[in-house]
Amino acid sequence: MSDCLFCRIVRKEIPASIVYEDESLLVLNDINPQAPMHVLVIPKRHIGSLNELAAGDDALVGEMVRRAAVIARDRGYADRGFRTVFNTNAEAGQTVFHIHLHVLGGRGLSWPPG
Ligand code: AMP
Ligand code: ZN
Repeated sequence: MSDCLFCRIVRKEIPASIVYEDESLLVLNDINPQAPMHVLVIPKRHIGSLNELAAGDDALVGEMVRRAAVIARDRGYADRGFRTVFNTNAEAGQTVFHIHLHVLGGRGLSWPPG
């Protein structure tokens, strides 16, 4: 997806605050953080939303979730708690159509979400 924002960040065409990278994932600081820790775990391969996931993506999604937990643990939020969120389509507020796992921590997070 040549014009996808996160694909462009993956290709380093747009600068971003990257905190972790491996062969399949990128983790960046959200540009508009909603908590002291607010990072986005994104796959390097374009997938538009959870609605487009296939069985062959299971390992990749597992890597995303495990990476979120490692980052939260490394920053001291494993015991305090942290939140992981995938927004999908309009009513959930998805604005970037390249899947990303929000990882938030460092303040009390209300439930139910807004
Ligand atoms: P969502 O609304 O779930 O699609 O989340 C998209 C997120 O991407 C929002 O939290 C935005 O603040 C964030 N975002 C948008 N543009 C950038 C960017 N260039 N670098 C980092 N985060 C971004
Ligand atoms: Zn993309």
